[in-house]
Amino acid sequence: MNPYAPALARLNPHGVARWRTGHPWIYRNGVAYVEEETGREALVRVEDPQGRFLGQALLSRESQISLRILTRDTAPVDRAFFRDRLNRALGFRERVLPGREALRLVFGESDGLPGLVVDRYGSHLVLQSLAWGMDALQPEIASLLVEIASPRSILARNDPSVRGLEGLERKVLDLHGETPETVSYHEGGITLTADLRTGQKTGAFLDQVENHLLAGRLARGRVLDVFTYTGGFALAAAGSAEEVVALDSSGPALARARRHAERNGIRNVRFEEANAFDFLKAEDRAGSAYDMVILDPPAFAKNKRELESALRGYKEINLRAMKLLRPGGVLISCSCSYHLSETRMDDVLARAAADTHRSLRVLERRGQAPDHPVRVGFPESFYLKCQVLETLT
Ligand code: SAH
Repeated sequence: MNPYAPALARLNPHGVARWRTGHPWIYRNGVAYVEEETGREALVRVEDPQGRFLGQALLSRESQISLRILTRDTAPVDRAFFRDRLNRALGFRERVLPGREALRLVFGESDGLPGLVVDRYGSHLVLQSLAWGMDALQPEIASLLVEIASPRSILARNDPSVRGLEGLERKVLDLHGETPETVSYHEGGITLTADLRTGQKTGAFLDQVENHLLAGRLARGRVLDVFTYTGGFALAAAGSAEEVVALDSSGPALARARRHAERNGIRNVRFEEANAFDFLKAEDRAGSAYDMVILDPPAFAKNKRELESALRGYKEINLRAMKLLRPGGVLISCSCSYHLSETRMDDVLARAAADTHRSLRVLERRGQAPDHPVRVGFPESFYLKCQVLETLT
């Protein structure tokens, strides 16, 4: 099979209108017709209802998202096309985060490579193909990565649930070389480890690295890191704080966090295995006080339907955190739910502040690290909100 042989897709007027907005996804209801050649094509030439050329896209036959735009150009989408996109993605990271050991090399649509994620941990790569068309091209992408980046190994972490929506199997696969059990890398002055096969995401929350480093710069006194996972925020804060309490409900995550503390000779972090909601309530009742609280919960809203209950969850943890902060204390409040917009998050924070009779000011409104750039006209790529607030009273 030639993976680059395109089939033909014709849009209906609704699809054309959508195409014109510049959003890189065309849903099924915008597509009038897709040619059935072999049924296995990864790519399509996209036309309007009159047969005029619009561009070229990745095809997903089962997903609600039928087409993901690659280009509006007629130049062939072939190996050279993907080599160029990958080279540009890698070159961009060299410019914005030079020398960074662990980072995201490819962030899907934001790199013009829809449905593809590639993370680097030192000389090891972890790839995720999250769209049907990209999955069909995966062997090509892997061989291009070997050519361009000379990694020691490439692992496909193709286990996220979104693959189910694409009609794709969920599995973890070695594509090149040997992926070690654990890899180590540095964040600022701290040595961390990640388990690429089983860790969350591709092993670590690389989207939070810059925010960990900021927490390190702002921390002082007593710090509470409520959803610590393997200690990213807590360990960064420990250098300038007197004492850090780091909490998670996952025993294995905490075990790794403890190992990280030991390995880095950090002794002022106390790890607690607990449910965040219970812990925050108990601390509030006990009248505890902190100079910094970090909230980095898992996505409470994974879809629109869950938003209402998610809003209650976000409000609850933010309200408790505000109550625990001393005047002049810093709240780092994150949400990785795309469905909770920044405006909604502002509203949650305002209501939590009002209920606790606290006044806060914004020090910084941040997002995911710059190796996860946001694509204009593609709000789905702006998912991580990280607000840095200071209590005035
Ligand atoms: N802050 C981390 C990433 C956090 S991911 C970093 O920057 O690396 C979210 C974490 O929340 C996971 O480790 C998960 O185990 C934990 N978690 C989920 N629900 C929880 C709850 N109710 N109470 C405490 N921890 C929870």
